[in-house]
This record gives sequence, C-alpha cells and structure tokens, in this order.
Amino acid sequence: MATDKKRVELAEIIPDKCIGCQLCAGICPVGAIEMVDGVARIDPAACIGCGKCADVCPVESIKFERKKRKPAGERKVGKPAGVPGYEGVAVFVEVLEGQGASVSWELVGKARDLAGKMGTTVLGFVVGHEVEEIAGEALAYGCDDVHVIDDPLLGTYLSRPYGKAVSDLCTTVKPEILLIGATLAGRDLSGVVATILETGLTADCTGLDIDEEKRILLMTRPTFGGNIMATIFCERHRPQMSTVRPKVFRLPEKDVERKGGIHRHAFEPPAGEPPSVIERVRDVAGAVVDITRFPALIVAGKGACDAESMPMFQRLAGVLGGVVACSRPVVESGLLPYERQVGQTGKTVAPKLYVAIGVSGAVQHLVGMQGSERIVAINSDPQAPIFGVADFGIIGDYKIVVPLFIDELERKMKSGAGGT
Ligand SMILES: Cc1cc2nc3c(=O)[nH]c(=O)nc-3n(C[C@H](O)[C@H](O)[C@H](O)COP(=O)(O)OP(=O)(O)OC[C@H]3O[C@@H](n4cnc5c(N)ncnc54)[C@H](O)[C@@H]3O)c2cc1C
Repeated sequence: MATDKKRVELAEIIPDKCIGCQLCAGICPVGAIEMVDGVARIDPAACIGCGKCADVCPVESIKFERKKRKPAGERKVGKPAGVPGYEGVAVFVEVLEGQGASVSWELVGKARDLAGKMGTTVLGFVVGHEVEEIAGEALAYGCDDVHVIDDPLLGTYLSRPYGKAVSDLCTTVKPEILLIGATLAGRDLSGVVATILETGLTADCTGLDIDEEKRILLMTRPTFGGNIMATIFCERHRPQMSTVRPKVFRLPEKDVERKGGIHRHAFEPPAGEPPSVIERVRDVAGAVVDITRFPALIVAGKGACDAESMPMFQRLAGVLGGVVACSRPVVESGLLPYERQVGQTGKTVAPKLYVAIGVSGAVQHLVGMQGSERIVAINSDPQAPIFGVADFGIIGDYKIVVPLFIDELERKMKSGAGGT
C-alpha cells in the first residue's frame, strides 16, 4: 500500500480492473483523480487518503486500506483556519406547509457525519411561524441544539425577513458551517444570507467532507459543464455555506427519544415597510409529475427515445409502482418534459429501483441517480458505463428485453412472488 510522507494511506488504481465509469473522479473531495485514456489515475501529491474512491468503485479496482480511526474525542482536530470563535455545523430547516422539508433532514444526517469528524455539534436553525413541533423533529433527526425564530411575519417565505432572521442567527450563534437545501426558497435564501454575512457560498454540492487537519469544509460540485468535479473551500470567512439538492444524501433515522436544547430568539425585522403577501399562487406544480417522489423510475435514454415505446415503459412503470423519467437527450427531442429529466441539470433522485433503458451513463447523468438503492441497466452496448454502477445489467435491444421483463414481472406478481 502506498503511503505519503505522513504515512497516510493513498489509494492506488488497478488499471486492468478499471472500467472508466468516473465515479471515483466524481466523489474525490480534492479532485485528485483524472481520467487518462479511459482509466482513472490518482495524483499521489493531491490524494488525502480518505478512501471515498475505493468505497464508490463498483469493480474494486482501487486498493485502499483504512487505518482504524481514533474516537472523535481522542483525535487531534485542527483549529478553525484563521477564523476563531465559530463552532458547530448548522442546518437551515425549511418549513413547507407546516412540515420540515425532507432535504433539511437529509442535511441534518450529513451534518452529523461532518460534526463527528470535527468533534463538534449539529445545530438546527428553524425559522417560521408556529414551528414548535418542527424544532422537536429537528432534535429527533439528529440536531444537538435547535435555534428558533418564530414570528407571524415569517409565516410565508420572503427573501428579506428570512434573510435577516437566518443571518441574525448566524451572527449570534456563530456556526462554522451552514447547510441549506437547494429548494426554490433555499437557493434564494442562501444567496441573501451569504451576501449579508459577506461569506462564500457553494451551490448544488454533490459531496461534502472535512479536511480534518485544516478543519475546513470541502464542497464538491460539477463544474465546466459537468466535465470535471471541483472541490471548493472557504478558508477565511464564516460560516462556510453550501446548498445541496434533495436526495443527494440519505434521510437519517428519526429517534423521537433524542433530547437536546431548544433556544428561542426574538425576531428583529429588517428596516423599512414590512412586506405584505398580495397573492399566493399555490402548487403550480400540481399538474407536474415530481419524479423524486416515486419508489421506482423507468428511465428512457437516447437509445430508447421512441414515442412508440412509451406505452411499454408506462406499463413497466405501472407494474413497478413507478413513473417514466429520462436522460437529457430525450427532453431535447421533445418526447418528455424537462421535469422528467434526471441528472446534473435535471433532478437528483434516489428511488428504491432505477431501471435505465438505453442510457449510456454519462457522468452528468450519474451524478443525479447514483444514490438509487437498486440500479437495473438495459443496454445493447456491453461497454456502456452505466453497467459500472448497475446492480443488474441486461445486454440487449430494449425492444426485445423490456417486453420479456414485463411478462416475467407480471407472471411473478400473479403468482405472489413479486415485489419491487
Ligand atoms: C453541462 C451539461 C449538463 C448535462 N446535464 C445532463 C443531465 O442533467 N442529464 C442527462 O441525462 N444528461 C446531461 N447531460 C448530457 C450528458 O453529457 C449525456 O450526453 C447524456 O446523459 C447522454 O444521454 P443518453 O445516455 O440517453 O444517450 P447516449 O449517451 O447517446 O446513450 C444512448 C445509449 O443507448 C444505448 N442503445 C442504443 N440503442 C439501444 C437499444 N435498441 N437497446 C438498448 N440500448 C440501446 C447505446 O448503447 C447507448 O449506450 C449534460 C451535459 C452537459 C455538458
């Protein structure tokens, strides 16, 4: 096993085994992996020995042996880089129609992981009106302390009051990190808060980690048209801010017995006339299919972009209790609307079952679906990168394979042996 001067284990590629799926390059928090002639290559000078590449590699082509970690209390954790007095990983808990947004709980789960590495606590920032129950839920999902601003002026999301409330919480509580879900409101709020606090913000991150030596947040996201993954950090300003889309991280277990502190803060509205809501347009998305909510997705790619095949895909979706989604070329062809697109510029999804039909597995597609529990790929090209991430692969023409697949599923379901 290769080691660097400080005897940190470095990952090593076994070139013969590498299938060029690029998942390692995508997950590497420091951009130490590049693709050379379709094979991953690790830069030993840049590798920090985190082992994430080995964890994600579907064909075990990366050698890496993890050292037993010391418990957080015994570990030497660095001091905040140049910004003393800040402590804790905070999550803005978005409240939608009286419920905590699922992405906020996913971020609380990730915050626990980050806080564990830093030896610090997870803080929930709950802002809204009549949000007492949500504060309790934030504890149940993993916050150690919840800071609440509850005021009638905060009953509906508006940039200025929410921006003021959340930035005031940051000024009082001084978290090192602030994570916000990349929802419609979250995207708006994060920009407002970062501007007020004059700190950095990395939007739409697909990976978060800690540089334990420097104690800084490593924020990874696709860049340059999605062709490379960049790891961005904010050394001199606090909090380090990041937005993350729904379904990038897993929902943590809820433990209603979990205890913690709830701290209430008064709301100081921004100067000037309070904004008034003239009209609220509710649920314009009502007619739109939200592919992130379905347990099964039947995903048509360019190789299956054929109007005549759609009824067949819908039938398969019906059998599996799911819905039809697609890759970008299918949207570009006009066959399916944009809201069905999976990937970097579409939706991030994590269904129980993902059936990719005629999808090659480009990195911009993979970043939006690699959190799926089970991936089935049907593709006529045995070299298609999608097979590198699939749990089950079927090589063949989908027009032959899919009808057989449906018949087999229906037969099993009739005999009572089926199930997603
Ligand atoms: C900035 C940027 C953002 C992007 N964002 C996204 C995004 O959000 N989502 C996204 O999907 N893409 C995105 N892309 C595009 C991405 O790079 C790929 O071009 C795209 O994902 C390819 O889609 P595909 O796999 O459907 O098509 P292709 O790559 O053309 O693959 C088609 C596959 O179908 C197979 N096939 C052909 N015929 C059959 C058959 N009869 N039976 C079975 N298999 C068959 C082929 O073997 C092939 O593997 C983005 C690109 C850029 C530059």
